[in-house]
Amino acid sequence: MGAESQADYDVIAVGAGFAGLGLIHYAREAGLSVRVFDKASDIGGTWTWNRYPGAASDSECYYYCLTFSQELLQEWQWSVRYPGWKENLSYMHFVADKCDMWPHIQLDTEISSADYQEDNGLWWIKTAAGEQFTCKYFVSAMGMISEPVIPSIPGMDSFDGPIFHSARWPEGLDYAGKKVGVIGSGATTVQMLPVMAETAGSVTVFQRTANFIMPAVQQSMTPKWEAEIKAHYDEIIDKCRNHVFGMAFDSPVGRNLADTPPEEVQQIFEEQWPRGSFRFVFETFDDLLTNPESNRIAGEFVISKMKEKVKDPAVAEMLTPKGYPFFAKRPPLDHGYYEAFNRDNVRLVDINEAEPIVEIDATGIRTTQNHYDFDIIVLATGFQAYTGAQEALPIRGRAGRLLRDKWNEVSSSIMGVFVADFPNLFMITGPQAPFANLPTSIEQNIMYIIDCIQKMENEGHDICDPLQQAEDEWVAHTAEIHAQTLMAQGDKVHSWMMGANLENRNPRVLIYFGGANVYYDKLRESAADGFPEVEFASLTG
Ligand code: NAP
Repeated sequence: MGAESQADYDVIAVGAGFAGLGLIHYAREAGLSVRVFDKASDIGGTWTWNRYPGAASDSECYYYCLTFSQELLQEWQWSVRYPGWKENLSYMHFVADKCDMWPHIQLDTEISSADYQEDNGLWWIKTAAGEQFTCKYFVSAMGMISEPVIPSIPGMDSFDGPIFHSARWPEGLDYAGKKVGVIGSGATTVQMLPVMAETAGSVTVFQRTANFIMPAVQQSMTPKWEAEIKAHYDEIIDKCRNHVFGMAFDSPVGRNLADTPPEEVQQIFEEQWPRGSFRFVFETFDDLLTNPESNRIAGEFVISKMKEKVKDPAVAEMLTPKGYPFFAKRPPLDHGYYEAFNRDNVRLVDINEAEPIVEIDATGIRTTQNHYDFDIIVLATGFQAYTGAQEALPIRGRAGRLLRDKWNEVSSSIMGVFVADFPNLFMITGPQAPFANLPTSIEQNIMYIIDCIQKMENEGHDICDPLQQAEDEWVAHTAEIHAQTLMAQGDKVHSWMMGANLENRNPRVLIYFGGANVYYDKLRESAADGFPEVEFASLTG
């Protein structure tokens, strides 16, 4: 297919994680030639980069996977409810081996630029090593939380020991007996701390904002549970596809907290809490994310559970989230984070109010009140979500326009897939797509993209030109929905979900909050209607 285009490949994608692997499957099935590049030395995306101690998925294993093959679903065996990074990587190797994907993957290859060429409608892809390729369809499979944010703290270069971002964990780093400082207290630190605290000499967490944290409740996979999962995979996939968060949850539950007597509310919360995962939010009441009072009550419950675990009241006070609604920041899942603060070798420092960081020097971190000596400093400071990876390399569309320039003020797209002025560019989970169980969203996006490409191939189109008007409409629709959510309550929500974690950027609407299920429906409607958001054209007119 696509022979007339004289491109090296029909499809070139960057990123060999879930998105890249899924794309290989669906593209091949459509008869397209496909090549996936990754600068990493292994496939895995998130799971090849995030090797910090305790790194694990927060989605339950049996729906945190690709679903295109019953054979894969039936053959793979998970060992636990939330697999660690090694097990996730093994799973991805299993997929790549089983589906013979390796010939389509080129690792250790950094893409240095991608340019749309108006004369022949092809994308021209260059690698850092000087290779050049052309393709008809260029796909960003780079992940929505992959570009690390390095804070600009004075003196960072002067530290004598290892200092690195959590997603760039040095191989073989021995922290046993060492004094470790961790800047940041998001999902990464919540997973990392309990594991590190077991062998590190000491761990000091520098916290700017406290989180609402729910229990993960890790469990071993049992033969009975596995059999039950494998007998119900169609149902599980269907649940994910129709869930607001893309997860195999039983919701909506058909009741609101606002209409439930307080004693019953507490009873339902108590029953749900020990089950763990994000289920607490989605399988208790349907109005926790929409009704501010219901949200407040749920948040209070989460805080009360934290206070049962943390012995020192002063520390518990520091760990109490304040000034923003529950779920307005992505809540981490707890694998022993709170208990870790009861250990003698773990310390929490409030850098928001009590003692902001002043500088990093050769021996540690200086705050306004103290100097803390460290052997190792971990920057668990998060990511430029949704746009970081695409902006890290120059992607140039029509008239040489840079994607990163276009997104300077508004990270606009059409359904997180298309961008006006960037013909034949497709994004898997780009900005203004929902935030949901990623493999579900990834697969839904890929099917949509491949449908679009197949239509072009079948009908002889060379160019898929996203319409500016459709982009304006999606941006306005996404903003309108955002304004109705708890995320829009005040400007205190310092969340990466709005890019508020970036020092040189205004916060913006990065996520479609209308529900993943509604979004997946919209993708299907668009495909069924012949992709009205884009204009198809041929080079010969
Ligand atoms: P994050 O949630 O953005 O947390 C970053 C932390 O660093 C926050 O506490 C932030 O404070 C702090 N921070 C950022 N810049 C700082 C600065 N200049 N000075 C001091 N503190 C600073 O990042 P993350 O923990 O890596 O998690 C990001 C997302 O990745 C998660 O929400 C999740 O979706 C995903 N993730 C998933 C998993 C999983 O599923 N297993 C695991 C880890 C991460 P503020 O809150 O005040 O900004």
